[in-house]
Amino acid sequence: MRCSLQALLASRELELSELGYHGGRQRVTAWLDSSLPSRRLPQRGYCPWGTPNTTSISCSLADVMSEQLAKELQLEEENAAFPEVVAVAEGPFITGENIDTSSDLMLAQMLQMEFDREYDAQLRREEKKINGDSKVSISFENYRKVHPYDSDSSEDEVDWQDTRHDPYRADKPTTTPRRGFIGKGKDITTKHDEVVCGRKNTARMENFAPEFQVGDGIGMDLKLSNQVFNALKQHAYSEERRSARLHEKKEHSTAEKAVDPKTRLLLYKMVNAGMLETITGCISTGKESVVFHAYGGKSATEDKVIPPECAIKVFKTTLNEFKNRDKYIKDDYRFKDRFSKLNPRKIIRMWAEKEMHNLTRMQNAGIPCPQVVILKKHVLVMSFIGKDQIPAPKLKDVTLSSEDMKKAYYQTLNMMQQLYRECNLVHADLSEYNMLWHDGKVWLIDVSQSVEPTHPHGLEFLFRDCRNVAQFFQKGGVAEALNERELFNAVSGLNISADNEVDFQAEIEALEKMNEDHVQNHGKKLSTFSSDGDPPIYDE
Ligand code: ADP
Ligand code: MG
Repeated sequence: MRCSLQALLASRELELSELGYHGGRQRVTAWLDSSLPSRRLPQRGYCPWGTPNTTSISCSLADVMSEQLAKELQLEEENAAFPEVVAVAEGPFITGENIDTSSDLMLAQMLQMEFDREYDAQLRREEKKINGDSKVSISFENYRKVHPYDSDSSEDEVDWQDTRHDPYRADKPTTTPRRGFIGKGKDITTKHDEVVCGRKNTARMENFAPEFQVGDGIGMDLKLSNQVFNALKQHAYSEERRSARLHEKKEHSTAEKAVDPKTRLLLYKMVNAGMLETITGCISTGKESVVFHAYGGKSATEDKVIPPECAIKVFKTTLNEFKNRDKYIKDDYRFKDRFSKLNPRKIIRMWAEKEMHNLTRMQNAGIPCPQVVILKKHVLVMSFIGKDQIPAPKLKDVTLSSEDMKKAYYQTLNMMQQLYRECNLVHADLSEYNMLWHDGKVWLIDVSQSVEPTHPHGLEFLFRDCRNVAQFFQKGGVAEALNERELFNAVSGLNISADNEVDFQAEIEALEKMNEDHVQNHGKKLSTFSSDGDPPIYDE
């Protein structure tokens, strides 16, 4: 049937061109509708007396032909008018049996689709206009006319997943396949898919700080655009920082309160006695201490010179913070007898005392460190490392040239050895946080927790110090820096041969145990761990 129709159509086209047709659907259909049947049929030998030919096409060949022609011409026009739309429509619709779908229906569908797209685009523009830079957006999603052509199975899949999504459970990490999309052929969904992205963004709101109010959004099927989500995220982070600052301020105020009336009286007395000229302000507030800067005054005794600038370390009288530091002091034989008898307030004084003793030892050994001025209860006054109220920067905060870095490294190594050998001390909190860079050299501070090497955990503390120091200088680009095990041996003079950290630490602990057993048996500690005399001194 189709073949014959096409053959007929070919001849029909010839005739049409004879009759002066040169294209244009309206013109052709108008012409076909009105003039053709009446004018043409009589010319084909139409006989009013003969029996009707039942085999011939009853609905008039011309009609069939004209319909077919109209279809073809229509398609031609459509191709010219909507090239890309036709390409889209061709896939699902003009295949197999669908080939006979009426062109008018298709045209109507295509026009509808175009209309819907324009409508959706307009909605999107309006949505954008209304939302602007606002942090909360409204969505016209429900008003969109997503044409059936546009919806695909992958979207349904997402819907199904989402209805089962528990908003109170952490999001499973989405596994984006390596190829970057899900689905097949035309039904692919990439990670950039607007809906998928929107839902992911909504789920990610869970990661914001708990105090950041996100409303009920997480429980709904909200789709946050990237723009809105990023704005929210930014806001959440800045809020977090702001609240952290506020919190810090609060902390600060409690630290100020650490200067309780008794402490204030102590400080006042120092100023009143002329020992300090003025206390200018706070340099640092830590968990366990508050450090103030002060200008030095005149000394009551002539043999003691008060430095022009002083640091006042006030050990906090808030007791519970010192609890976790017990291990440093209660096993330190220097304080052992007193420790058990003291009330917590007095233990805090002991920290200050400990720092003073350790600083004095270091001072005597010539290690650069603050010089002790006076100790009054839990307030330790020492010389200020820095100038004009500006404290020297910590090693972690200062950018050193590679030459200075190398110099700092050898000096630190030297100081650690001196501390161990001459002062019989292990810093026990040595790191770039407790080393200041001043006058082209490293100064050690914060030695209240320092212990003697024979302390039950002394060697462990030393190993920890060595690790901090080795890591800092190795990261700082000092090629010569020893690793933590080499550094430990170099400082302690012990020759622990283990070549891995676990064995090394096991040996350290065995040594400590040996020392403890010795104390148990002989009632006193070994004088030193050093097995082969003094540790070698490393110097440039
Ligand atoms: P904490 O136990 O709180 O770490 P530190 O002794 O380390 O106490 O002091 C805290 C901070 O105060 C240091 O990091 C340093 O910046 C400053 N500081 C302490 N002592 C001095 C000092 N003598 N001279 C200058 N700054 C000091
Ligand atoms: Mg410190």
